[in-house]
Amino acid sequence: MTPRATRVLVLNSGSSSVKYQLLDMADSSRLAVGLVERIGEESSRLVHTPLVSGPGGKRERTGGIADHTAALEAVAAELAHDGLGLDSPELAAIGHRVVHGGLKFSAPTVVDDAVLAEIERLVPVAPLHNPANLTGIRTAQRLRPDLPQVAVFDTAFHTTMPEHAARYAIDTATADAHRIRRYGFHGTSHAYVSRRTAELLGKDPSEVNVIVLHLGNGASASAVEGGRCVDTSMGLTPLEGLVMGTRSGDIDPAVTFHLKRVAGMSVDEIDELLNKKSGLVGLCGDNDMREIRRRVEEGDERARLAFDVYIHRLKKYIGAYTAVLGRVDAVAFTAGVGENAAAVREAAVAGLENLGLAVDAERNTVRSDEPRVISPDGARVVVAVVPTDEELEIARQTFALVERTDDDASPALRTSIA
Ligand code: ADP
Repeated sequence: MTPRATRVLVLNSGSSSVKYQLLDMADSSRLAVGLVERIGEESSRLVHTPLVSGPGGKRERTGGIADHTAALEAVAAELAHDGLGLDSPELAAIGHRVVHGGLKFSAPTVVDDAVLAEIERLVPVAPLHNPANLTGIRTAQRLRPDLPQVAVFDTAFHTTMPEHAARYAIDTATADAHRIRRYGFHGTSHAYVSRRTAELLGKDPSEVNVIVLHLGNGASASAVEGGRCVDTSMGLTPLEGLVMGTRSGDIDPAVTFHLKRVAGMSVDEIDELLNKKSGLVGLCGDNDMREIRRRVEEGDERARLAFDVYIHRLKKYIGAYTAVLGRVDAVAFTAGVGENAAAVREAAVAGLENLGLAVDAERNTVRSDEPRVISPDGARVVVAVVPTDEELEIARQTFALVERTDDDASPALRTSIA
């Protein structure tokens, strides 16, 4: 008997890297995880960790990975070595993280030529990410042409934002001609974390309003009402919103005119300044919150100011989204900083007792990989730490789609393109 196909390979293809995980959706377990980095360089490297029982742990190989095709072939060879090859009948689909899905993709979508063309059409609004994501999909298609390739979009969860939250107050004709609006990113994480938070509260997602604070190197907040996103802090690009590791977040757009006209910077230089040399790194030279906290403890003034600017912005968004939602049931911290930095969580809600927010000092310092409540018993708003898992969410959405497509054999389900 042919085994049931329950495995999903999740690929996150960047311009010079591919991160991957193979999961078995029968029990949501991980079978292998790995990373190919510096693709095309002499120092290219693959690190592969099989998680199935058997001999051997992490394996590495260096050099000789010239392009994405070579990268995926190397990944396929490592998986085959562990008896998990891409030719296995147990592999149900490959799920791809795609950063920008514009307005057309509000759900995970089985890739066909029309879908590829639409992702390509969105390259001008995601010039760094979508081309790499497309390369990953095309390479995977060549390796397994018969297998469903599913695109899971970072923007999809935010397509429920009402028009008044998504629109910039600029000339409508110009905005429409160039598809300028707020799209939001990190949607897979906001979807996963808001659902897990509802579970933590013992409620259905439709019953709860949650503010999700995804604080990694990139950072974004979202207001989720009854399971649907109604506002998020990133916009046309991931530059808007919170102070991030290297991005400024919200800024007066006239700063850019000033930098061009008065400082004589080119548009590319301004782009680089705001995306790569701003945020925490711009304020104090470090973007790692661990290092910043260490410096703050030592009395470093620049690190203190960077921390305070970061927290001030975070508080403003908590306040804004409390107003947007009207009633807040939970605030969930997630991603590298949100899951690990107790000092950030404490500072972010300090003084917000009038909004029903507080953290219990002891609960806040507990370290765990599990979702957990850190507010005191009886608090009006539950403050929680809810570890994100974007790969599991991509695998879950991918598997749900191909399972449904198999059962229904309905061409309408093959794509959700509007
Ligand atoms: P991304 O996926 O955006 O690259 P992550 O969600 O992995 O980012 O978060 C990375 C960030 O998490 C690091 O830059 C660091 O600032 C922060 N971080 C990780 N561990 C800790 C920790 N123990 N304490 C404070 N911050 C941490």
